[in-house]
Parts: sequence; structure tokens; C-alpha cells
Amino acid sequence: MTGLATALPDIEPARLVFTRNSNPKPPPESSKLVWGRIFTDHMLMIKWNALSGWADPHILPYGPLSLEPSSSVLHYAQTIFEGLKAYRDEDGKITLFRPDMNMKRMNRSAARIALPGFDGDALQKLIMKLIEIDAHWVPQLPGHSLYIRPTLIGNQPTLGVAPPTDALLFVICSPVGPYYPNGFKPVSLYGTTEFVRAAPGGTGSYKLGVNYAPGIIPQKLAAKQGYAQNLWLWGPDHLLTEVGTMNVLAVFKKDDGSIELATPPLEDVILPGITRDSVLELARAHASGSLSLDGLPKNFTVTERPISMKEVKAASENGTLVEIFGAGTAAVITTVDRIGYLGEDVIVPVGEDGLGPVSRVILREITGRQIGKIPSSWSVVV
Ligand code: PMP
Repeated sequence: MTGLATALPDIEPARLVFTRNSNPKPPPESSKLVWGRIFTDHMLMIKWNALSGWADPHILPYGPLSLEPSSSVLHYAQTIFEGLKAYRDEDGKITLFRPDMNMKRMNRSAARIALPGFDGDALQKLIMKLIEIDAHWVPQLPGHSLYIRPTLIGNQPTLGVAPPTDALLFVICSPVGPYYPNGFKPVSLYGTTEFVRAAPGGTGSYKLGVNYAPGIIPQKLAAKQGYAQNLWLWGPDHLLTEVGTMNVLAVFKKDDGSIELATPPLEDVILPGITRDSVLELARAHASGSLSLDGLPKNFTVTERPISMKEVKAASENGTLVEIFGAGTAAVITTVDRIGYLGEDVIVPVGEDGLGPVSRVILREITGRQIGKIPSSWSVVV
């Protein structure tokens, strides 16, 4: 005996315990899907304790959790989550899009609020097992997918504000239809200056539950004024940060005739979106010549830099604003047609198909890789 502490058990897929749902539901007709309302027959659940580490993973029938009213998650929002999708390709194969990125981001979020870290590959394997079990819930129709929601909560039954001694990781899945069932539709944004989503030194760059509830009232207020979503502006220069719960990208015509795709840099007010990263990687590959994306200009640059509302307004007025779009897992791309800003509307160009010259290409390239039309290492077969 050396007396050295041994590592506590991590998540171990080989120790999976499976309890089949004896009362399975028929999956709903794809055309009747309402986002996030219906869940598949099974869920994954893994308990953690500070003294004993991660317990055996369980896949069991979807159902209610049992939590003590004193559970820390209910008082201090000790909760983080992820969102990713499983797609069915034309051959019927089920794939995930860059799931390793979700696992990394989830561990980063956990570390920020003292929830336990875990082996991301192991959780990914278990999520794949869960999808395999509920495979008939992954919709067949184009544009449909299975939304996967991994969640980790602190559930220690005491009221002290401290790192939890107990935690619970669970994964639930919900079949979802296309974000725009009747064709692509640009959205209007309310340039929000009275509320902030995130501030330097805060938690906006992590996927914590606590970041989301405070956005609900600003969204309602924007809707009341006729705008679909908030454009979250930051600081005295009203810098663009995010659109609703998406990253934001803008396209400008430069003086030298080149086209610039710009997005704010990843600092602590921006969530590192996986769609954002995918857009940048594809666009940069085109800009460097290592990949040629049909439809994008040759004279094309990609930058991560601050973008102010002053710049957007001036570009809208002088004709150098090409387009603005949001990027996220739910819709992939959401284009913008106007921004309410300090009492006026700033007009943003958008094509007749609801897309712009850059977003149209990016949407085609990303969805092509998600559904296996374009072979890619980003697509992982379940
Ligand atoms: N910003 C916020 C605040 C989000 O919640 C999301 C959705 N996870 C995104 C951006 C987009 O991230 P992703 O592309 O990984 O879905």
C-alpha cells in the first residue's frame, strides 16, 4: 500500500445496465412534431458522488426524476446542458454531427460551476447506444432529426452554496421537424441595449442553465414590439454578440471589392457554437483555396473581430452590408432582414429564397455534411 489516492471511477460504457421500456409508445407522425414536446422511450442516467465517482450507467424507460426539494440544482441553478442532433441519411444510416465538440463543451461548462468532469468519449459511446435502442425514433423525412439533450445537475440535498457532493447526468431525446417547415424565412431582430445576456467575467461562454431564463423576458418584450428575437448588444459601442440563442455572423463588401465574412471573437460573452466553428472552418478552407465552395467569391476573407451597430448601420445605408445570419444547431442558419435599433429599423439585405449569397452556400455545405450527402469526418455513424 503506497497510501496514494486512487482515481475515482469514470463513466464506464462496459458497465451499462439496460432496463427495456415494457410500455413503448409509437413515434408520432413526423408532420405533427412540436419542438421539444415528445421524448423517446428511453433515457440514459448516470449518478456521481464525490467519494465514489461515476456509478454504473443506466438506460431505462423515460420518466420523472426523483429529487429532494433541498437539491442544489433547484436553488442555485447547478445545471449545464448540451444540444446535438442525430440525422438519418439517404441509406437509412444514423449519424451525429461533431459530437466530440459537444462532449468537450459540456466538460468545460461542468468545470465552470464545479460539477464533475467525465470521459467525453465514454459518454458519446453511451449516447450512441441510447440512439441505437431508440433508432426507430430518428425521423426519416428530410429536414427532420432526433434532438439529443445531455444534462448534468448538482443534486446534493443540502442548502449550502458549494461544489455538489452528488450529481446526476441524464440524456433525453426528442424527434424534431424542420425549423422552417414552409421554406426559409428571415427573422427580424431587436437590437437589445437595456438587458445583457452575458458580460466580461461572467458565464455567457458556457452552456449553463443559468444563462437562459433571464433571456425570456427580453425576448417577450422584443416580440411585443414586433421583432422575432433579441440581437444581444454589448458595451458603449453596442457590439454584436449573439442572436437569441445563436452565434451571429455578418457579411460586408470591402473597398477593394472583396467579400468579408465576420463574426465576433470568442471571448467571455460568446458561446463557442459548433455551427459557428463549422461555418468558419468551411469558409476559411475556401478563403485559403484548400476547398472550393461553389457559389462563394474567390476574393473572400474570414475574420473574427468586433462588429458594432454603428458599422452595421453605416453598411446598410451605403450598400456594403451583404447579409447577417445566426448560426446554431436548431436551424443551422437563420437569416436576418431588419434590426430595430434605437427607435429605427436597420434594413438587412436578403435574397428571394430567404438566404444570402454566403449563407446559401454555407447552409448547403453544412446540411450536406450532416445528412451524409457530402462525405466528412464531422459525420459520425451511430
Ligand atoms: N449561442 C447560444 C447562447 C446557444 O445556446 C447556442 C446553442 N447551443 C449557440 C450559440 C449555438 O451553438 P451550437 O452551434 O453549438 O448549437
